[in-house]
Amino acid sequence: ETTINRIAAGEVVERPASVVKELVENSVDAGARRIEIVTAGGGKTLIRVADDGAGMERGDLLLAVERHCTSKLTEDDLLDIRTLGFRGEALPSIGSVAELQVETRNAAEPHGWSLTVSVGRKSELRPAGLSGGTRVEVRNLFFATPARLKFLKSDRAETAAITDMVKRLALAAPHVRFTLAGADRKTLDFPAEPENGDGRVRIAQVMGEDFVENAIPIDAEREGVRLTGFIGLGTYQKANSLSQFLFVNGRSVRDKMLLGAVRAGYTDVMASDRYPAVVLFIDIDPHQVDVNVHPTKADVRFRDSGLLRGLLVGALRAAHVAAGH
Ligand code: ADP
Ligand code: MG
Repeated sequence: ETTINRIAAGEVVERPASVVKELVENSVDAGARRIEIVTAGGGKTLIRVADDGAGMERGDLLLAVERHCTSKLTEDDLLDIRTLGFRGEALPSIGSVAELQVETRNAAEPHGWSLTVSVGRKSELRPAGLSGGTRVEVRNLFFATPARLKFLKSDRAETAAITDMVKRLALAAPHVRFTLAGADRKTLDFPAEPENGDGRVRIAQVMGEDFVENAIPIDAEREGVRLTGFIGLGTYQKANSLSQFLFVNGRSVRDKMLLGAVRAGYTDVMASDRYPAVVLFIDIDPHQVDVNVHPTKADVRFRDSGLLRGLLVGALRAAHVAAGH
């Protein structure tokens, strides 16, 4: 079991930022309105994610650290994935390569429960004194696999990767308040977008006021695929995928085809090697897209990628024309 989990861990847990991603997505899936993230040592020594979501009942906590136990999927649901997680791999994988502690409290329980897993070894359940939600702590990532640890970048670079990841996650969940703190970083605090907001509040928090001030809203649709977001025409810079935020059904993606379409949408018009920052959300029938390509789910496969490409290129060109370029 431990060996299998460690192999799976290599797929799911590449680096501290991927741990942050998995834990935050679990919090979002649990209906959290507030997510607090703390890291130390580039996430290598500590990652803590606390939420005010539904929490887990006693039995669910035991199952949560078992491989392929997910509460989010049934057999015929495989194509219809609306939650962010669905593999049931994250917690067991993390538990196999770190010291994992999960404390949780579900309203159906008289008190909370806590469980630890240290390099695959599970503790007994213990009562925990938290009033609600879930608190996951990951300490000493890869401490039992020095080869993997050596493969990580400097604390500074891993800290930056975590910041980028939290920005992506925060853009995808604007109605959730996010904080990211730690002794070695500037605290980020993104208060929740108002319930009737259009996304601009969160985008301004993450991308800066300048971006939103000079941005052109995008809103296009083709054959049931909707594209919304902003293209920041005031923020041209050298090609940099860190300023290209793309989401498919609320999931951050770094898909090559989509990034290529974004580029094609303005290089033709601008004849320049500088690129605007973009924040684009694609909403598509889940049956038209496969997010199951890779466990970290950054790649996607569309049934009709030509349609997607056409939609993006067309909308970005139109935005430039509208802006008088
Ligand atoms: P997945 O998200 O693919 O289901 P995970 O390993 O990430 O798999 O989590 C396993 C299970 O643990 C989830 O299905 C969920 O039931 C539970 N869980 C994990 N994190 C939380 C959380 N923050 N709040 C509530 N339940 C959680
Ligand atoms: Mg998950």
